[in-house]
Amino acid sequence: MQRARFVTGCCIAFALPLAAGSQAAPSVAPDFPSARVAAGSHRIAEDLDDLLQFAAAASGATLTPAGRLQTAYAAAYLALLFESRAIGDRRWAQVQALAERSGDPRRVAEALQNRAEIALQAGDYRRCEELVGRLSGLASPGAEATAELFRAVLERRQGRLGGALRHGERALDLYRRLGDRLGEAQALANLGTAMRDRGDYAKALDLQLEALAIRERYDEQTETSYRNIALIYRAIEDSDAAAAYFTQALDAARRRGAPSLLAPILGSYAGLLNDLERYEEALAAAREALAIDQAIGSRPSQGLERLEAGRALAALGRRAEAEAELEQTLALGRELGQREIVATALLNLARVALDQRDRLRARALLDEALAGLETSQLKPQLAQAYELREQLATAEHDTTAALRYLGRRSALREEMLGARTSRQLAALQVRHARHEAEQRNALLTKENELQATRLHNQRLERQFGLLGIGTLLVVLGLVSWRYVSVKQRNRLLAENAGELERQRQVLSDANVQLERQAAELYHAAVTDPLTGTHNRGHLLRELNERILDAQTRERDLSLLLIDFDHFKQLNDLRGHLFGDRALVVGVQAMRQWLEPGDLLGRFGGEEFLIVLTRSDAAAALEVAERICEKVGDALRALDPDGPACTISIGIASLALVGSYRLEALIDAADQALYAAKASGRNRVIRYPSPTPLAKGSAA
Ligand code: GH3
Ligand code: MG
Ligand code: MG
Repeated sequence: MQRARFVTGCCIAFALPLAAGSQAAPSVAPDFPSARVAAGSHRIAEDLDDLLQFAAAASGATLTPAGRLQTAYAAAYLALLFESRAIGDRRWAQVQALAERSGDPRRVAEALQNRAEIALQAGDYRRCEELVGRLSGLASPGAEATAELFRAVLERRQGRLGGALRHGERALDLYRRLGDRLGEAQALANLGTAMRDRGDYAKALDLQLEALAIRERYDEQTETSYRNIALIYRAIEDSDAAAAYFTQALDAARRRGAPSLLAPILGSYAGLLNDLERYEEALAAAREALAIDQAIGSRPSQGLERLEAGRALAALGRRAEAEAELEQTLALGRELGQREIVATALLNLARVALDQRDRLRARALLDEALAGLETSQLKPQLAQAYELREQLATAEHDTTAALRYLGRRSALREEMLGARTSRQLAALQVRHARHEAEQRNALLTKENELQATRLHNQRLERQFGLLGIGTLLVVLGLVSWRYVSVKQRNRLLAENAGELERQRQVLSDANVQLERQAAELYHAAVTDPLTGTHNRGHLLRELNERILDAQTRERDLSLLLIDFDHFKQLNDLRGHLFGDRALVVGVQAMRQWLEPGDLLGRFGGEEFLIVLTRSDAAAALEVAERICEKVGDALRALDPDGPACTISIGIASLALVGSYRLEALIDAADQALYAAKASGRNRVIRYPSPTPLAKGSAA
């Protein structure tokens, strides 16, 4: 609907130059574009309507009843769009009749509602009441709600606030039950205006704000709500707030592009401008509003607009114009039954008459005003009337009358003061409510900011979370990569370790072999290969060590020098190999008598040396004799049938030799052996021998 209005406004604005060129609207001031738009729109509506009627007539009998209803509906809707009330009423009546005939109650209700609206706009309250009655008779909840709203408006417009509130409450209840939010807003706004008229400004503001909230949500009729709120602020003399809301209302109305919405706002705004003594602006606003209302044929608000124009003109000293304007206000107010307008017009006219010293006229005007005011209880206007009446009585030197009016004015003023006090109280309440609302808003804004911050933080947290997860994944990747590489390295390490171990084993085996070879080499180096005893070199080194040890410990040590007897002969007789065998067997027999730490070695040829480390000379003799015997036995066992094979032993002990020198000891043992040979062989001789023999003689 709003969009349709806006589009229409645009169409009209383009179509206007054509329309203005053909026919000038006499009642429209040329300097009000919005009024020209309204007038132009009315003319376009007329032309289009003519066109539709012509088309309908041309189709004549070919149209079905439904087709005729559609055509009438289109024409009526066109008139509604172009805000042409005169055509609208005609066409909606047509729609109603056709819809009744074809049994379409929905269209009937729509037609009745639009006709009632047109009657209300025209100030034809009786007709409006009649149409509302028929709307109510349709027995539909929607139609009943609309009817109740119309009744509330009609009651209020005619100064019957009780009835206005009753019907308004009922309309509100019905709309709420129907879930019709825009209807609800309209009922709320109507109740708010009735409350304002009754002086209950806080409640009035509550209701208007509630209505505004709904209208803002649907973006419908917000301009009317802003104006209603501005009027409350004007009533409680909060001019700044009132001016702010009027500005908002004007902006919204201009945005919608429909002049019919702009006029009532401009008219009310003119009242505020007059209060503020901005008379030129007030006059301009009032005249623009009037021009629009005249162009669209809206009458009820024209009274107020003329009144404000008259007030401004009177204040500007343009008495004749003011008088003319006020006279017209009076006539219109009387016609429409607008008590407040009539009384206010009479008062302003009386003020002008008094200024012109036309006491007779002033008295007549004031008497009429007073009669109406005393029944309507419009107290501010009544107080003004008493004041003017008092001025008149004073001018006529009627002291009694002057005193009487002074008394009445004082009583009313006292009452008014109370009323003003409660108005101020109401103003305070309104301010308080506004403050609270602002605080609520601020809190909500804070809350929103907080929510936004939380949201932002959550987003950040989410991002950080993602970053964390990303980092975690990267770390996991690195760790698993590390794990894999470590595992690989471990495997390599294990392989290497195994290889190393193998190598170590090889090395160890090699070392063992080497050691064994070394030991074998050493053994070979120190051992006589035939008999397995120490060889001469090793034997003499060891002997030397033992002698030194015996010297250190001051112990005795004996040396047994052994020579096989007549061995040359044995070799000759039994062969050299047998000789070798005899040496091996002899040595084995010798070994059996050795103790740990004793030494046995081959001194050379068939001569052997035994070192007895722990035996003194006596013990050594015993051992030597046993060896001599047992070796003889072993050799005889080797070749029982052969010639006897024996050994001779020469003993030398350190204690008896008296020297720790190796050569001396060997030499002593050699001397003893020589003695054994010389004394028959197969025996043992200890040094010094009892019968020392010259070596050379024994051989
Ligand atoms: P005597 O009783 O005076 O010692 O007489 P003998 O024959 O043993 O004299 P002599 O000690 O001078 O001679 C040693 C002989 O021993 C000379 C040599 O042929 C022999 N002989 C030395 N070494 C070996 C050996 O390793 N094997 C064999 N079969 N004979 C050896
Ligand atoms: Mg010999
Ligand atoms: Mg010999």
